[in-house]
Amino acid sequence: METERFAVAKRNDLMRPYWLDQALKNQPATPCPALQQDTRADVCIVGGGYTGLWTAIMLKEQNPELDVVIVEADICGAGASGRNGGCALSWSAKYFTLERLFGVNEAIRLVKESEQSIYAIGTFCERYAVDADYRLDGTLYTATNRAQVGSTDGVIAALERHGINSFSKCALPEVQRMAGSVRHIEGWFSPAAASVQPGKLVRGLRRVALERGVRIFEGTPMTGLEEGMPAVVNTPNGKVTCDRVVLAMNAWMARAFAQFSRSVAIVSSDMIITEPRPDLLERIGLTSGVTVLDSRIFVHYYHNTPDGRIMLGKGGNTFAYGGRILPVFDQPSPYAGLLRNTLTEFFPDFADVGIAATWNGPSDRSVTGLPFFGRMGAGGNIFYGFGYSGSGVGPCHMGGQILSSLVLGLDNPWTRSPLVQGPLGYFPPEPIRYLGSLMVRNAIRRKEHAEDRNRPPRRLDVRLAKFAAAAGKADKG
Ligand SMILES: Cc1cc2nc3c(=O)[nH]c(=O)nc-3n(C[C@H](O)[C@H](O)[C@H](O)COP(=O)(O)OP(=O)(O)OC[C@H]3O[C@@H](n4cnc5c(N)ncnc54)[C@H](O)[C@@H]3O)c2cc1C
Repeated sequence: METERFAVAKRNDLMRPYWLDQALKNQPATPCPALQQDTRADVCIVGGGYTGLWTAIMLKEQNPELDVVIVEADICGAGASGRNGGCALSWSAKYFTLERLFGVNEAIRLVKESEQSIYAIGTFCERYAVDADYRLDGTLYTATNRAQVGSTDGVIAALERHGINSFSKCALPEVQRMAGSVRHIEGWFSPAAASVQPGKLVRGLRRVALERGVRIFEGTPMTGLEEGMPAVVNTPNGKVTCDRVVLAMNAWMARAFAQFSRSVAIVSSDMIITEPRPDLLERIGLTSGVTVLDSRIFVHYYHNTPDGRIMLGKGGNTFAYGGRILPVFDQPSPYAGLLRNTLTEFFPDFADVGIAATWNGPSDRSVTGLPFFGRMGAGGNIFYGFGYSGSGVGPCHMGGQILSSLVLGLDNPWTRSPLVQGPLGYFPPEPIRYLGSLMVRNAIRRKEHAEDRNRPPRRLDVRLAKFAAAAGKADKG
């Protein structure tokens, strides 16, 4: 495998997205030195985001003697984990997809586990004094136009039938008060969701991993992988010879390994955050850490911050040809203007409030909208997990349970789960995937533009939009 496939952009601290920048300033930590010589380990994890770090911590929890190494191309949290929207959501809204793919029993189990992961993140933060602004204040799934009204009813009825429904319908004044905006015309609330400062969470995970004896090498990209028993992870100045490898590289997987090139589409989620105005939040009623999502295909999602800001995001904007990680993913969002307009529509009181930062980042959208896990390599000792489709803050905790169980060779519901069957669908080859993605994205935009004006969308646009809608609600990328 040639080195170019593993290339990760060189960034510097001035280019860090808002959350990571804030986390680094609040909790400065010396970067872990890069690997400078050959080393031996039991397990080598590639990628220091939530997936890699949860896996490392869970491995150490189960077997403290295990020698676990993480190689991270940049610093821990430099990928999606240090820049996401911080909405920790369960898989309730994905129930139909889960049932269709995995059957009723596994779908029920996964919805429950996804809720448990939200609580487990809170417990983890408390136990290890990780100040990640974790607020277990629930989520509101809303409608912001007539076409969206009722779109959540079906899935909630199914959750109810199976005894796993945590949502209740709120009276409209309550929806608008909690969400801080009269743009919402319907709302379902679930207490099983949290908001976090994602950068602080990932840096907290890094600290705990180090405290547990995980050896982390930052500024250390994997430049090649030699399969076998043992496997060898090559980096510029040293190799890690190890019994097992975990690939936790998220959006970077699609370029790095040819067999995954069509298993995900790389698409941006774009974000803005305002200057702090706690007085205005008080006035509009958006005072809790509730996360709010409308019912678009690529939802608008927002929450406030404890210091009085509003963060608003939307996925599905920039699509990357051939799964490339484009330079624009490390720049201010090209869609900041659109987000600003939406913010003002939602919160007229914030019309004159400055935008403190804008950014974006790559999400790995799978065909099903769900992540997938598996093993590869001649020795079956290389494990991977990605494809969170813009919804990974909570699910990466499940990813850690799955990957640590696979590494330890356990027989449990995670290793028996159909989630470990590898990709469950493929996008068409380029250029069809790219052109098709743009066609679907533009159809969605036209459809939702019409619906926002309470006009009927074109029938062709509705049909094209269904290609993206198939993956289920609440995808942020
Ligand atoms: C802008 C944005 C907003 C989002 N909002 C939400 C949200 O509100 N809620 C939600 O649930 N999810 C959200 N997501 C998705 C969520 O952030 C991700 O699913 C999650 O962070 C994935 O974690 P990860 O550890 O798998 O990947 P990452 O955090 O991306 O980590 C992968 C790491 O691998 C490293 N790497 C890559 N190649 C190599 C190599 N060759 N060698 C060594 N290291 C390498 C990268 O530098 C990176 O640090 C959002 C994503 C984005 C981009």
